[in-house]
Amino acid sequence: MLQFPHPDDKLLPDQIKLVQTPYYHKKDEICKRIVGSLVGLAVGDALGASVEFRPQEYLVTNPVKTMQGGGTWGLDAGKWTDDTSMALCLASSLISENGFNPYNQMVRYKWWHRYGYLSSTGHCFDIGQTTRQALTEFANRQRNLKVAYHCQNDYETDMLALDSVERTFNFNISCSDPDSAGNGALMRLAPIPLFYFQSPLIAIESAGRSAALTHANQKAVDACRYYAALIIAALRGSTKDELLDKNFYINHKDWFGEDKLHDDVQTIIQGSFKKKGGYNEGIRGKGYVINSLEAALWAFWADEDSFEKGALNAVNLGDDTDTTAAIHGQLAGAFYGYDKIPKEWLEKLYAHDFLVTVAEWLHFMGIQRVDESYPVYETEDKQILSETNDCQTDQQHSDLVVSVYSLQVDPIGSVPSNDDVLDHYFQSSLNDEEDTYTRNAYDHGFYRNKP
Ligand SMILES: [Mg+2]
Repeated sequence: MLQFPHPDDKLLPDQIKLVQTPYYHKKDEICKRIVGSLVGLAVGDALGASVEFRPQEYLVTNPVKTMQGGGTWGLDAGKWTDDTSMALCLASSLISENGFNPYNQMVRYKWWHRYGYLSSTGHCFDIGQTTRQALTEFANRQRNLKVAYHCQNDYETDMLALDSVERTFNFNISCSDPDSAGNGALMRLAPIPLFYFQSPLIAIESAGRSAALTHANQKAVDACRYYAALIIAALRGSTKDELLDKNFYINHKDWFGEDKLHDDVQTIIQGSFKKKGGYNEGIRGKGYVINSLEAALWAFWADEDSFEKGALNAVNLGDDTDTTAAIHGQLAGAFYGYDKIPKEWLEKLYAHDFLVTVAEWLHFMGIQRVDESYPVYETEDKQILSETNDCQTDQQHSDLVVSVYSLQVDPIGSVPSNDDVLDHYFQSSLNDEEDTYTRNAYDHGFYRNKP
């Protein structure tokens, strides 16, 4: 299992030990698209970093053509900013918690803000005003938790279980003011649809919940819900025409549940981004989420079937260049797949191997989800895992899943069968601490044949 560092370790992403997914993980087309989406986000972020805040007039005369360093943040070429750091915080939470834990997501964003957790430099050197306010408010509210649970230090408070936090009187994890319609949630979105790609309903609902932690305005929430649906449809093989169809929402209505999308998002779905003149016809790479969403979709629509062209379209709009391109890269990467991202950019991308590994774990763990509503995979391993869905917490489930998948009972490389797994448990002594959850599973009768 990929282990993410403790914030005090001060490990940079390229210093984190890479643990690969098990050997029987099939890195198929969907996996390549998932890797493409997360790497596409980081590539877009890095591509725009040197010219962030530059107006469009500047980029007309000084267009970005490839990955370049210096400029706004003085970063080396290929280093990325807050967009990718926050996406990695979100991915690390989904993987470590094996599911959606909003408290843990906020804790990890706070670690990034305070300690540079999963940043490319060891410091949080850029943060949007809305996100800063939400994270500061979150840290303030945590003081009540620290007192209520007699925590000895901040880390103990950070590690509180979600159910403890949720039953604390008057504690609200969501720390955004309702007017926050910036693009700070959309820029970090991808890990949610990548992890829940088998469950569009859950993915889209979770995308909205995750956005609202820092950006609670309905436009920001619904932009994330719509974009999560687009990413999932791209992963599952929709054509570009299908993705950009004005009937996309109607065609996928059962993915969205009861909650409709904000009118401003619906206007975009109707095709407001299809402007041949781009900037000259009003497309703007600004921080307002509706502008960002429209600009990213325009960049994708006008890309002449090239990831590279689309990413440069996004950056050269100017203004919030890195974020427009990070949003574009999430969808374009999911649509085109990792192999279509320019090699030269991949070679320069900071912590490339770490990003790929994180994405592969999102795919691997996404396959194991037992609550999918529209499964892509139907394999024997699902049956094994469906027996574990009575675990009391996501962590128990996560440990059990990893325990099952760490078996290497078949040297040929196929997924272990039900019987192999059962044999393993019944023949093992079950004395190791590591087998705690196995024992729990046994004690709770998750396995059919007690020895
Ligand atoms: Mg940024």
